[in-house]
Amino acid sequence: MREFSFIEEFMKPLGRTDERITLGIGDDAAVLCLDSNEELVVSTDTQVESRHFPVGADDALVVSRAIGCAVSDLAAMGAQPLGFTLSVTTPSLDVEVARRLAKGVAAGIDRYQTPIIGGDTVQGPRSFSVTAMGRVQKGRALRRSGAKDDDDLWVTGSLGGSAAALEDIESSLVGELSELHSVYWQPPCRLAFGQGLAKGIATSCLDLSDGVAGDIRHILKSSDLGAELDVQLLPINPLTIARFGREASFELAFQGGDDYELLFTAPVAKREQIIALGSETNTPVTRIGRLNSNSEILLLVDDGHATICTDLGYGHF
Ligand code: ADP
Ligand code: MG
Repeated sequence: MREFSFIEEFMKPLGRTDERITLGIGDDAAVLCLDSNEELVVSTDTQVESRHFPVGADDALVVSRAIGCAVSDLAAMGAQPLGFTLSVTTPSLDVEVARRLAKGVAAGIDRYQTPIIGGDTVQGPRSFSVTAMGRVQKGRALRRSGAKDDDDLWVTGSLGGSAAALEDIESSLVGELSELHSVYWQPPCRLAFGQGLAKGIATSCLDLSDGVAGDIRHILKSSDLGAELDVQLLPINPLTIARFGREASFELAFQGGDDYELLFTAPVAKREQIIALGSETNTPVTRIGRLNSNSEILLLVDDGHATICTDLGYGHF
């Protein structure tokens, strides 16, 4: 199938225009409309076969997950989605591939409440790149920096589900997903909760793609602070515990990647507001520790015993 027909027949029908999207798929570029008191938030995420997703995985699963991973960055910034572009690199483009891609895009639009506004389609080894765009009130975007000494450390949802699912991911590449595998394939993307945090609640925030152990360093480093994390409080995915037991599950929850939950800091005085925001937005939220002035040192406290944590989580190189 020609690139042109793929765009016309499969992608264009999934696009739309509205008061924010002046021009969508079909021209040289999309046109978005912002209010004068807003800022544009942009994030790109690329997924390469065998590096970021398993060889042979259904295009539909991979594409909808790629959309979730990119939109999750908007959640972490406290932004409201405007739209995303999708760059598809595919070895072939027959009708079957086109249908699978369109199915994944439709699922992603629906699940992550973000319209498609454009993209690119090229031939090559399979990979997908999603650029998500959102808007935020001027000066309100949540950053990795900004945490303060004595702030609480919080996390949404539960951790370790994706890492556990990856243990036998090959059994989930096509067909129905088990509950555990859907944790990996359908990132949670805490948009409503992130937007609430950006209304003067959180002091810093990020989405967990590489594990708490590694990702927390970004907050500590940019704020020049340390943290004390209570091991017993870490919300471990119950499906992970049921399968791997407590000890191994802790490792998966602490060091495993791909959870896409939010890790954030907030003043002690915001505790009630955070719990209320969690119930309003149907987002489980757990306080797991506290920041302190010990520059970049992460202390793990387990039943009163403290150890310095030097693990860096998942690294890309
Ligand atoms: P150009 O050569 O001007 O970049 P393209 O043929 O690449 O034009 O794209 C034409 C239109 O189709 C653009 O609006 C582009 O955003 C859109 N488009 C191309 N590929 C995709 C895709 N995979 N998903 C969504 N829109 C796409
Ligand atoms: Mg192009």
